[in-house]
Amino acid sequence: MDRSHRDQPGMSPIIAPADAASRRAAKPTIVYPAGTMPGPDLAALEQARRTMVKTHELTVPPRDARTFRVARGQFFRIVSIDGPQVGDLNLWNAEDLSERFFSGKTRALHGTHVGIGDRLWSNMPYLRPMATISHDTLGWYGFDEDGAGIHDVIGTRCDPYTNLLLNGTAYDFSCHSNLSRALAAELEMEPRAIEHHVHDVLNVFMCTGFTRDTHQYFMKASPVRPGDFIEFLAEIDLLGALSACPGGDCSATHSSDAAACHALKIEIFEPDRTTLKDWSWPSPSAYHRRHGGHAQG
Ligand SMILES: [Zn+2]
Repeated sequence: MDRSHRDQPGMSPIIAPADAASRRAAKPTIVYPAGTMPGPDLAALEQARRTMVKTHELTVPPRDARTFRVARGQFFRIVSIDGPQVGDLNLWNAEDLSERFFSGKTRALHGTHVGIGDRLWSNMPYLRPMATISHDTLGWYGFDEDGAGIHDVIGTRCDPYTNLLLNGTAYDFSCHSNLSRALAAELEMEPRAIEHHVHDVLNVFMCTGFTRDTHQYFMKASPVRPGDFIEFLAEIDLLGALSACPGGDCSATHSSDAAACHALKIEIFEPDRTTLKDWSWPSPSAYHRRHGGHAQG
């Protein structure tokens, strides 16, 4: 946030207490430490992906989105084909759109950016892995000098409402609109009737972080190049939607037609299912959902 407004004349001063330094020196605690939740069997995952055969592929045109279906146990890849391009991914339970990807909890569980072995979790009351990342050719990137990483679960998606708020113009090909059109086509409905199903995304291939001084969300040119891909195991039957962001490589702008924009490819693979015979497929959370509201005793 830009905090300069807090220092304007006439604002009540904020005075640090005498023990401010010692209060600040409290040690951080990881909220969800590694090892407290069940991790995927990476060796089994690797064995399965070595047997897989491509069964389907589709292209997502620039500044547009497409839906795709993946059965539990299949793998899917998002592939860079023509040039550096960021993708905005939504996932739903193929049988129930009320179960969908939960970017915020995925961030809390795994961190601001996701990679091999991390899960994409669904919302409450389901809260289970929808997909597990099985490969990522950009796994070498890590965090750079600016603190930026790849595939964030920080950003929400570019959308026409924020654009209108900030720029006063209507732009129809931001990721929210692209995802809404694609889902509307899938469901044979109007975008405005289904856009509430579109949710915070996984920012595929996007290179982002928080500035060190003001902690503002920033983006920089994606290091993705044609041939790079991120790959997932579907943990449940999925309906997915992917938007090729109008920001292109997201080096400068989005929510306009200014950036160079490229297509993305989605590939779906079938593995030898015997390699996954011991895989523990996730059920919805077993929490009883009474929330303390039931009679005692
Ligand atoms: Zn976008």
